[in-house]
Amino acid sequence: TRKFFVGGNWKCNGTVEDVKRIVCMLNNGEVPCPNHIETIIAPPYVFIPLVKSMLRTDFQIAAQNCWKGKGGAFTGEISAEMLANLHVPWVILGHSERRQMCGETDAIVAEKTAYALNQGLKVCLCCGETLKEREMNETNAVVCRQVGAVAGKIACWANVVIAYEPIWAIGTGKVATPAQAQEVHYNLRKWLDCNISPQVAQATRIIYGGSVTSANCKEIGSNPDVDGFLVGGAALKEEFIAILNARN
Ligand code: 13P
Repeated sequence: TRKFFVGGNWKCNGTVEDVKRIVCMLNNGEVPCPNHIETIIAPPYVFIPLVKSMLRTDFQIAAQNCWKGKGGAFTGEISAEMLANLHVPWVILGHSERRQMCGETDAIVAEKTAYALNQGLKVCLCCGETLKEREMNETNAVVCRQVGAVAGKIACWANVVIAYEPIWAIGTGKVATPAQAQEVHYNLRKWLDCNISPQVAQATRIIYGGSVTSANCKEIGSNPDVDGFLVGGAALKEEFIAILNARN
């Protein structure tokens, strides 16, 4: 059985005051015990040390991105080694905002994932289609291409969680229906089964992201192939606690 997994992606939001307030809110929340849930919190890089110093120890920290290889003369970048050095266990890679706004191709995301895993980081690997791609019935092909690019570069899936985030559902309030999410998650798992191994397909968490709220998380999360959520906007609010309790 796959452990329920929820990530809070803060994106490019917050001040020091906001961070302190949100972490206090998280620390006071009643959530399932770590036997039943794995929780990651992804603040902007600059707030990582502050969050780490305050955050409850049953939640883990994630970075929202990292450089694709070894550090060096890459102004403005943060390397996977640095994250490992700071004991940041997780990194989110291939988020659609980075693919769309920062030119990250499938090949770059694959390179980043392989490098980060080699540095001992765990990776929350994002995939997802545009509205146009969905309307053209390309959803399955797109997400399998995105995950397939990474599959060609890595040998072990134990430290990978896949996040399916349809781009049309991100920050739009237009959440995928439970059936739409289940269908894509099922197809991704089938792809892993055929192209990697039945064990990897069974063991790999596939989480859903895109307008997840306390109001819709229970229904989406009750699908057999939905193993949790990657939450954006609602991760900055009290309702994140309710989302962590979606399976209760
Ligand atoms: P929203 O929950 O704000 O739609 O964002 C989802 C997301 O992109 C999480 O990575």
